[in-house]
Amino acid sequence: MTEKISGGCACGAVRYEATGEIEFSFNCHCRKCQRSTGTGHSSAFALPVSMLEIQGDIREFQAGSDAGVETFSGFCPNCGSPMTSRTKRFPERIYIHAATLDDPGVFHPTFSVFEECAQPWDPPRKDLEPAPR
Ligand SMILES: [Zn+2]
Ligand SMILES: [Zn+2]
Repeated sequence: MTEKISGGCACGAVRYEATGEIEFSFNCHCRKCQRSTGTGHSSAFALPVSMLEIQGDIREFQAGSDAGVETFSGFCPNCGSPMTSRTKRFPERIYIHAATLDDPGVFHPTFSVFEECAQPWDPPRKDLEPAPR
């Protein structure tokens, strides 16, 4: 994914564009992602925050701490769509939920993380690599 990507929330109040290299794409089965998405896992990709241009307002809440480091989940304050997530451990990186893409077909996760938290009704994909921790 090196071309221009774009996406937005369900209501259209938040739009984003990014041009450049996606760092990595993954599925996360952690409890924070389960709670913030209401599903068994989140699918997201990481990119440098400097690449991202956001139109509209993303509201962030502190989604607890990840090994003692604060993390933040971003959503559209109008429709509630989960959009982004950030951690203070990697302040120059932002994670974007894959289903916000205008063309979700360009998303290709290569590994999954927190498989130990996966629910029996949403097991991790067996064809993905384990997490590069
Ligand atoms: Zn919205
Ligand atoms: Zn997670």
